[in-house]
Amino acid sequence: MSDPLRDQLQHTFGLDDFRPAQREVIEDIMAGKDVLCVMPTGAGKSLCYQFPAAIGGGLTLVVSPLISLMSDQVRQLRDEGIPACLLNSTVSGAVRREIYDEIRNGFEGLLYVAPERFVMDDFVELMQAVKPKIFAVDEAHCVSMWGHDFRREYMRLREFREKLGDPPCIALTATATEDVREEIITNLGLRDPSVVVTGFDRPNLSYQCRPARPSVKIGELSDIFRKEPGSGIVYCSTRKNVDEVTTKLSEQLKDRSVFAYHAGMDQAARTANQQRFMNTPGAVAVATNAFGMGINKPDIRLVVHYNIPANIEAYYQEAGRAGRDGRPARCIILFSYADRHTQEFLIDKTGEENPDANFEALETLKQHAHEKLERLIRYCQRQVCRRRMILDYFGDESPVTDCRCDICLGHEQLAAAHADTDGEIVIPDELVLLVRKILSAIARMNGKFGVGMVAEVLKGEESEKLARWGLQNLSVFGLLRELPTKRIMAMIYRVIDVGLAQQRNPPGVVGRPVVELTGPGVAVMKAQELPPVSLVDLLPRKD
Ligand code: ADP
Repeated sequence: MSDPLRDQLQHTFGLDDFRPAQREVIEDIMAGKDVLCVMPTGAGKSLCYQFPAAIGGGLTLVVSPLISLMSDQVRQLRDEGIPACLLNSTVSGAVRREIYDEIRNGFEGLLYVAPERFVMDDFVELMQAVKPKIFAVDEAHCVSMWGHDFRREYMRLREFREKLGDPPCIALTATATEDVREEIITNLGLRDPSVVVTGFDRPNLSYQCRPARPSVKIGELSDIFRKEPGSGIVYCSTRKNVDEVTTKLSEQLKDRSVFAYHAGMDQAARTANQQRFMNTPGAVAVATNAFGMGINKPDIRLVVHYNIPANIEAYYQEAGRAGRDGRPARCIILFSYADRHTQEFLIDKTGEENPDANFEALETLKQHAHEKLERLIRYCQRQVCRRRMILDYFGDESPVTDCRCDICLGHEQLAAAHADTDGEIVIPDELVLLVRKILSAIARMNGKFGVGMVAEVLKGEESEKLARWGLQNLSVFGLLRELPTKRIMAMIYRVIDVGLAQQRNPPGVVGRPVVELTGPGVAVMKAQELPPVSLVDLLPRKD
């Protein structure tokens, strides 16, 4: 079948075919629509504006904050015979004048600029005169106040786009979550954009999370690596931990090469260790998150987080360095609650080095960082398929099949262990009773309290806080007195995970969700319906 776009792709870029989302984005942008394109790093976002620029004529203006990436792209485009040039602080006055002249004379192709170019009047006037055909904003999450990469100049892009006669805008990013996505749409003024989110799934990675007290972590780590001869990365949250873990792991794994990597080491030592890691089979790199930006070692079989990362985006990036070759690889978090405090400490220190920082903005930033950390902790603790949770976080709705994460594998085992002779899964009566007690407590507390308070009521905590709300008088008070509060909390979350209850932010309140029953929850509480089979995961494991 004839496919003119694909023919153009083969002819101009020498690539066989589009990746599915690329075609969608390209067709939309060529039809004059605004597009928000959310794809993970390496998915091929650049082609989404390079292709329309190369075949559609006119000037495509690309805003990017990454100077080194810009020059790489311009070089590659020129190699392919596509006109491209760039303007940023590295360009001399003479070259800049030449480029301005060329543009004035009707240059057609891609012009890459750093965002600060837009505060220069002569540049804005030039762009007003030539009217770019497409306006591409790379790293679009830089407009997000909540992101880690906020850039003030990005806030002005909307205004500049209007001055340029409102060309169709394509915004690209690898890190947009639902709220950041909304900010991009608002702050860039995208009009009824098509939002293309894709490809966050890494089916060959099996995610795991193991609770591990700090004192047993090294032992666990050595065991994990003894069973895995391939190379791996161990991520730690501090330089001190990197040094300690490197020393201890080298003692335990005598036949393996273990390298440290963190920003406190001098450049020569870092480069040397990185090189050795790349070239030594079965090598283990112990690192802070400073490691890995430029790492492209396809056969990493294992990424272990010795300490929890800061949030799910960071985790996705770091864990994602495993299994680039598409073969099975594992990503494990050794979860100890103490790590939470290290991350909290790091968040609270944000901005200390900058005494001029706007206090309110900084506080909001910190609050968001705390919420993201909370999501990460929930990721570690929830009994939900981990691949599903990661995809949901990025708003990727692709179905998950054949998952090998610890939750899915555990569920299979449990289901088998609890099946009757016909293979039907039996939910034991005591579990049904337990679930009904939890549901009743949530109902009695009227959707006014969070999970922690519900757990305290069920535990029968004699605290002033509960007394103040009169919660000690509820009939459900102390119904689960025999269980540890942590276990009660975990069960409440499970009840939420299976859809019998839900969390909701009360209007105007961020980060303190209350919990309430759903329709199915009410039915199960009133014994009109059986609890769902997935509650089996709450039973003690029989291994
Ligand atoms: P991103 O900006 O999303 O991180 P890039 O645009 O840098 O990703 O693309 C990553 C790599 O994928 C590049 O080497 C690019 O040439 C390659 N690539 C992009 N689209 C295709 C395609 N349709 N077929 C084959 N390779 C592609």
